[in-house]
Amino acid sequence: MPTDTHDTKTRIDRIAAANIAVAFAVITFKYIAYLISGSVALFSDALESIVNVMTALAAFGAIRLSAKPADIDHPFGHHKAEFLAAMFEGAMIAIAALLILIKAYKGLVEGVVLERLGLGILFSAGATLANAAWAWLLIHRGTLWRSPALVADGQHLLTDVITSVGVIAALALVALTGWNILDPLIAAAVALNILWMGYKIATESMSRLLDQAASPEIERRIRAIIESNGGGALEAHDIRTRQAGRALFIEFHLVVPGAMTVDEAHEICDRLEHSIERTIAGSEVVIHVEPEHKAKPEGLGAVQL
Ligand code: ZN
Ligand code: ZN
Repeated sequence: MPTDTHDTKTRIDRIAAANIAVAFAVITFKYIAYLISGSVALFSDALESIVNVMTALAAFGAIRLSAKPADIDHPFGHHKAEFLAAMFEGAMIAIAALLILIKAYKGLVEGVVLERLGLGILFSAGATLANAAWAWLLIHRGTLWRSPALVADGQHLLTDVITSVGVIAALALVALTGWNILDPLIAAAVALNILWMGYKIATESMSRLLDQAASPEIERRIRAIIESNGGGALEAHDIRTRQAGRALFIEFHLVVPGAMTVDEAHEICDRLEHSIERTIAGSEVVIHVEPEHKAKPEGLGAVQL
């Protein structure tokens, strides 16, 4: 285990907690913008931000759970908890989009009365700027620390920013033309865009949940490390990798001369395990030792030593 893992988890915890504070501030400003103007689109925007707080709370819980060390019930750790949060976020985005569509429909049927539009736009624009800066920070850190939940959080916030930009543009147009009907119409278009983002986040999480292999680049690095540290062994084959949150599980077969003692074979295994785990962050390696008649040069990712 690399020593920076604990620090990374602490930093992710802290950023997820700050996420909730930012979301509450944004909701307050967006709700004030709605109260000032009476715009259906601004009301929908505030509703979507409330959903943001709920998903941020889910992400916070999942991140705490995934940081828990392995135990008897979960001997491989709790890394995949972060995928649950990412999928929950996809569902929450779908609900937010539906809420906006319902509001837009009511606005279309019942008509919209707007007042003090300039002030409403100003409050919404301020909240949107803060949201955009925060979304960028979440995606940047989430990528850096390999946290799917943080990245999903940031992407979710970006859909919020897109919603707000659509709403502000609609209101600016309404202010210029006096066509109040544009307010619910553009809110509906933005709702469809949010649905699309939710769909993408959910499908991305699902493919990674199904034990996706490491990238070809990482697998090349693993083979190179085996090649330069496998002295004494004959071959490595059936190299399999699977990602689970920030953890990367690696296993392979190591062919050694059948007459080699267990002590010697174990020494090679320890050397290989340590050099891989030291080089590739979050990796955990298991090696299966075999005598030479089990050699399999055509095996998955085979390396001759
Ligand atoms: Zn084998
Ligand atoms: Zn051992």
